[in-house]
Amino acid sequence: MRANTRNLPAVFADVAVPFPLFQTFTYSVPESIRNGLAPGCRVLVPFGARYLIGLATKVHHLARPGKVKPVRQILDREPLLSPALLKLGLWIASYYLAPPGEALRVMLPPGLLARKVTLDQDGRLQKVWPAQRRLAVVEITSAVAKLTERQREVLELLRKRTLPVLVQPFLREVGCSQSVLYGLTSRGVIRTEAVETYRSPWSQSETSPQVTKHSLNSDQNRILKKIEQHLAADQFRSLLIHGVTGSGKTEIYLNAIATALARGRSALVLVPEIGLTPQISHYFRAWFGKEVAILHSALSDGERFDQWRRIREGQARVVVGTRSAVFAPLPDLGIIVVDEEQDSSYKQDELPRYHARDVALKRGEIEKTLVILGSATPQLETFYHAVHGGSLEYEILSSRILKRPLPKVHLVDMREEFQRLGKATVISQALREAIVPRLSRREQVLVLLNRRGYASALLCRSCGSTEMCENCSLSLTYHQGSNRLLCHYCGYVKAVPKRCGECGREYIHFLGHGTEKVQVILKELFPEAAIDRLDRDTVQRKGSSEKILGAFASGHTDILIGTQMIAKGHDFPRVTLVGVLSAEQALRMADFRAAERTFQLLTQVAGRAGRGEHPGEVIIQTYFPNHYSLKHARSQDYRLFFEEEIRFRRNFHYPPFTALANIMIQGRPQKKTQLQAKQVADLLLHHRSRLSAQRRMRVLGPAQAPIEKLKGDYRFQILIKSTSRKELHEVLESALDELNQKGVTWKKPSIDIDPINLL
Ligand code: ADP
Ligand code: ZN
Repeated sequence: MRANTRNLPAVFADVAVPFPLFQTFTYSVPESIRNGLAPGCRVLVPFGARYLIGLATKVHHLARPGKVKPVRQILDREPLLSPALLKLGLWIASYYLAPPGEALRVMLPPGLLARKVTLDQDGRLQKVWPAQRRLAVVEITSAVAKLTERQREVLELLRKRTLPVLVQPFLREVGCSQSVLYGLTSRGVIRTEAVETYRSPWSQSETSPQVTKHSLNSDQNRILKKIEQHLAADQFRSLLIHGVTGSGKTEIYLNAIATALARGRSALVLVPEIGLTPQISHYFRAWFGKEVAILHSALSDGERFDQWRRIREGQARVVVGTRSAVFAPLPDLGIIVVDEEQDSSYKQDELPRYHARDVALKRGEIEKTLVILGSATPQLETFYHAVHGGSLEYEILSSRILKRPLPKVHLVDMREEFQRLGKATVISQALREAIVPRLSRREQVLVLLNRRGYASALLCRSCGSTEMCENCSLSLTYHQGSNRLLCHYCGYVKAVPKRCGECGREYIHFLGHGTEKVQVILKELFPEAAIDRLDRDTVQRKGSSEKILGAFASGHTDILIGTQMIAKGHDFPRVTLVGVLSAEQALRMADFRAAERTFQLLTQVAGRAGRGEHPGEVIIQTYFPNHYSLKHARSQDYRLFFEEEIRFRRNFHYPPFTALANIMIQGRPQKKTQLQAKQVADLLLHHRSRLSAQRRMRVLGPAQAPIEKLKGDYRFQILIKSTSRKELHEVLESALDELNQKGVTWKKPSIDIDPINLL
């Protein structure tokens, strides 16, 4: 026997470890545990002086040269990641130049991989699964004659149930004390045991909400027909639904998903934010009841793990979630919907820097499913791909449901307002006069200002200096509620000084205004109105955005002021007026997407007006009324905006005409960091010249990042623009390899492929 096994080829496993290391590690797999090891299973392996839990990415017979250590234990009988998801994870690692261990870690619920574990006496890991175990009645053996009446009653109740029955909820439900059940166990009538249970974010008894299912209009029907054809093909297909705000996209998604489910497939829906748009989950739960799993950031780790398990076991065939839900382990996936595909929250701003929309498209390709992107203002690249050939199909919904008109949009030129009144105002006369009749008609008003706090800076009128954050090159914002200065980037807090920190004089002046101040001003203008505020501060303080949005939805609030949070897909039929303050604000940022962001935000928030019976009106205040993003936001003409913006992108070599990578080198002190940035840039230039790709690729920088200093680190960036994505990757990969081989001791440069934010 022994002789035989010796002839079997040795087995090795490549293991991704939960560290930011750009490689996998090879281990041998001892014969005794070899069975059952498949890629996607977790393994316990020695790593330096410790043991850690990694994920096997490959099982093979080809060891790399050198001594390899053995795998200690295989932790899963079934792979945690299906072959398709494993493939997706490795694609993320290579496309976004992310460490494989980090890419795979974000695909799993927290805590399944571990950087360090303690083993028991036998050198094994006991708890490999963070499942919750709770006491349950698992068996009814035999009844004995001598039972109390109450015990007999409880036993009868138990007999009517399917076992196992969880002890605590059962006792609560039937109003029975622990001792009755204990009596039954001690007499051997029933047997209890700890069983694995699911932690559900909502109670089991909760019933599904009710909604009306509309009969679709002809536009919706046309698109649904097309979707049904795609679903029947069981192939990778992608489709952009470009539908103006309130055109009934959600209704199409719901119908499409119902079709997919009827075909025995499952569905994945990505949304930018769930806390702010409870309506979305409401609709899905109304349509699909307990088949829906909602994945959002407020879930506890335990709940997240349990939802992941439910999904994996096929108990929840519809998953609605934010960014990381794109990895939901749905079996038989048939359709993926990415709603508001342009939303920047789909881009993760730490390792791995993936974009959930692009990952969704890749997943669709791997799993041969339909991917639907939906938006009222598609990201420029998406629209470009949809209308200029390529595989992304395009469908448009150009009118609102029930032929409701789009709101009328006015621009108020704040320069004129200033000249006319001889002073700066926060709320223009036009906006003020538009609010009055709304209040008397009990209609509602939204006011958007994308800047929280009271004053945006504290300026000394004597020497001109502003109060800056100690860690960042940014001015501190004054918050009146907490009466302190706050850095919005690192959270640094400071008391409000009486005197200027530079010159010591008392001429301190509050500059600019944020949502907090606007609330005060509106209160003065409209003392009888109920005014509320939705921004990061109030959401934190009151504990929930639901409360604020609920009060607005029920009509308790007349005017809601807020940051971009109020622009998200809310459907408040009584809103007939939307005011926007400092609409040009984003245009001041040194970011090539500034115009696009401005257009999107204004269109989104304008889309909140006039969704009910009464038509809507939008008043946009700005100092830049002639900027094209504002002009086209006024006519709500996406096409015209696109034509102008795409010219700018072409002339200045930005996406979609180039692939972009942003490389950030951060550290301290400043001089040293700058030198390192220079070295990285030289390295990139060197590798670029090896490819002789000069003409197709530009390496810009290093330059000081727009935010030069953040959290105490100085920041330099290098921007690469390349007309060939393949070459961009080749250069970055070989440069990165060289850096790794040299074993750089300083903070690694962070690489952002397809960056959304260049600050
Ligand atoms: P979008 O997502 O495009 O902004 P929604 O899907 O939220 O639009 O639809 C806007 C409103 O119109 C919702 O209240 C929805 O219930 C309603 N609606 C959708 N389709 C129809 C239809 N065919 N007939 C009547 N009302 C509809
Ligand atoms: Zn700071």
